[in-house]
Amino acid sequence: MSATQHPAESPYHARLPIGERLDATPLTEGLPWAFEQITMRPLEPMLVPEAPRGGESGPEDCGPCEPSAHTIWRDDLWQVRSGWEIGGLPFVGAISPREHWLLEDAPVDVLAAFGPLMQRVSAAVKSIPGVARCHFARWNDGSAHLHLWALARPAGMMQGRGAGLAFWDEILPAMPPEMAEANLRRVAESLASGGGAAFPGR
Ligand SMILES: [Zn+2]
Repeated sequence: MSATQHPAESPYHARLPIGERLDATPLTEGLPWAFEQITMRPLEPMLVPEAPRGGESGPEDCGPCEPSAHTIWRDDLWQVRSGWEIGGLPFVGAISPREHWLLEDAPVDVLAAFGPLMQRVSAAVKSIPGVARCHFARWNDGSAHLHLWALARPAGMMQGRGAGLAFWDEILPAMPPEMAEANLRRVAESLASGGGAAFPGR
């Protein structure tokens, strides 16, 4: 705990068994297709205020605001980045506005453009050979800059159903570099066929 942090206080927090090791059976029973055995770490104290996320104070220290060789596509409002390191899923990419917006303050024109883009990203990812579905996730613990994740679920992979898919990226054997590059190219070119530019940073 840093000098300025203290345990979060709310009726929700007051009832939590901090320090206890909780039973993971709901995970092994709820996602039995993926997990046989899980041991949870003891529940840690929940301290506030939390450490600032990347870009919390503005675009100066914000990864998605900086130019990146990993931008595989962009248009005037949005960008898609991928290919930082090769994982086991056919595609994992981050979709973010080009300007420094948080979900809390993003203007309506930026938000409105996301709907059609979501449809295009899904189609692009599903055009990769061997991909059945494109899952979307919005976690916002690492970067304050609004971003969503697109994850490709391999065809027939019933063990990758649902939220558990994200874990498999690090569990499955990493793709060969040429396969990963071909998948990036397919997504980038599919998106660019509907507007915007593929690989603006290359
Ligand atoms: Zn930013």
